[in-house]
Amino acid sequence: MSETERTFVMVKPDGVQRGLIGKIISRFEERGLKLVGAKFIQIDQDLAEDHYGEHEDKPFFDDLVEFITADPVMAMVWEGQDATRQVRSMVGETDPAESPPGSIRGDFGLDLGRNVIHASDHEDPGANEREIDLFFDEDELVEWERVDETWLYE
Ligand code: UDP
Repeated sequence: MSETERTFVMVKPDGVQRGLIGKIISRFEERGLKLVGAKFIQIDQDLAEDHYGEHEDKPFFDDLVEFITADPVMAMVWEGQDATRQVRSMVGETDPAESPPGSIRGDFGLDLGRNVIHASDHEDPGANEREIDLFFDEDELVEWERVDETWLYE
């Protein structure tokens, strides 16, 4: 059995502008993941550069920072068994064009630079915790029980 963990998810400005916040939240809720933190914010330059720091030498970095700071995002923390890997599999590949139908990017996107959603990389150990710390204070995360939890897990 995998560990219960938290992962960071963000509906990007294109997803917000296209009215996809509710549909995306529903997917995670219906899967059985538990929302433990959420904030609707506009990211500033410093937070964008911190969040995407690993890409600062890439040719797409400036456009990425401009895009992610241009309009609001919906930042969230979701909790569940094996949450980081499961969320990434629901998100799809980085490029929506390579993402299978049924995945969020595969259903809602067409272009690499407008891929609707961010989710912590499950292949980068600690990325989930780092990103949660960057966007949320500890007291902004809520511990609670879903009524269906006893039926979600054996
Ligand atoms: N990105 C881009 N062009 C590229 C590669 C990435 O615009 O050639 C953007 C895209 O929005 C992506 C983000 O940079 O989601 C971060 O890239 P990463 O490789 O970390 O992909 P992700 O973890 O989001 O799938």
